[in-house]
Amino acid sequence: VIGLMGGGQLGRMMIQAAHRLGEKVTVLDPDAQGPAAQIADQVIVARYDDFVGLAQLAECAKVFTTEFENVPAASLRFLAKFGPTMPDAHSVAIAQDRRREKAHFTACQVPLAPHAVIASEADLAAVSPTLLPGILKTARLGYDGKGQRRVAHAGELAAAWAALGPAPCVLEQLLPLDFECSVIVARGADGQAVHLPVQRNLHREGILALTEVGPGAVPEALAQALVAAAHTVAQGLDYVGVLCVEFFVLRDGRWVVNEIAPRPHNSGHYSMDACDVSQFDLQVRTLAGLPLTAPRLHSAAVMLNLLGDLWFAQGETAQTPPWADVLALPGAHLHLYGKHEARRGRKMGHVTFVAATLDEARRHFAQACAILGIDA
Ligand code: ATP
Ligand code: MG
Repeated sequence: VIGLMGGGQLGRMMIQAAHRLGEKVTVLDPDAQGPAAQIADQVIVARYDDFVGLAQLAECAKVFTTEFENVPAASLRFLAKFGPTMPDAHSVAIAQDRRREKAHFTACQVPLAPHAVIASEADLAAVSPTLLPGILKTARLGYDGKGQRRVAHAGELAAAWAALGPAPCVLEQLLPLDFECSVIVARGADGQAVHLPVQRNLHREGILALTEVGPGAVPEALAQALVAAAHTVAQGLDYVGVLCVEFFVLRDGRWVVNEIAPRPHNSGHYSMDACDVSQFDLQVRTLAGLPLTAPRLHSAAVMLNLLGDLWFAQGETAQTPPWADVLALPGAHLHLYGKHEARRGRKMGHVTFVAATLDEARRHFAQACAILGIDA
């Protein structure tokens, strides 16, 4: 039995993979009806820092994992007394704090954006003008572009910091991005590691909008460099489990690492339909101590995130989007997460278009966008 912290869609898709391999999953989540809880073998309804609930989880599972990165590190340390936790509290604690994350990248000698930690008025006063214009990001608890402020010049810095707390932050130089990529690595307890092909990501309003993968999505030499960097980052953490490493590719061709997610990632969802082994299969294999085989991409793919906004295309009452029309397109794979209520900006599902070539996948993706009334 796998003990899972968190009840969202990442957990749900992990459970689907676990069930295929004959594994059982107990979920700990405050919501008894969430996407993962709906299909879990057992649900413990508790807060993530509730030690009574955690003790129950410890009793019924042999290995532990998390599907979200803001799980309290203390909870993972508690579970580690009862069985392996993958990833461990140490890796999760680093991923939870941009300051420690950047220190780790520096220690691994992987290129990263010029930045400064801002935790006091003195830090604020000492900011080098070369970091501006920049982006001020809270060190902890940011996601989907939340907890960030753009800072055009030094005069805006104090107000931006005040608006974010003032809490410990990292100021990053605003880089001229060409595009964004991510690499998903799975590493077993024995140190053996495999990775998914490198994907190219497009964000809209701070949220991942679409991911493309396949010949032509990312130049080969760049892909190789990013894969090597992702493995270095994982190895440096002595990481066990699935890790996503996000990168920015700059207009002059250079690249920097942005951040890590200590779990399967939205940008790896295409692997369920375009690879012979998905990121969730890899997560279950690491947990169950099963062999990790290198995933093979058998189709090019474009994945489109389905946000709650699509339910309000016709007005203020939520209406189910025209899935039948989308599913009539060749190579369309629809995944809905079972969320009870559509809300704007909420991730409700995704659809992946697979095809023999990326151009063909893009064509069907563009047709789906027209059907759903979104910009391709
Ligand atoms: P998530 O966890 O959902 O990936 P996040 O809230 O942790 O997002 P980041 O990934 O750091 O935030 O930033 C969100 C987006 O903002 C990036 O995907 C990128 O498009 C843009 N961005 C962030 N930092 C920079 C930077 N230094 N220069 C240029 N653009 C940036
Ligand atoms: Mg990000």
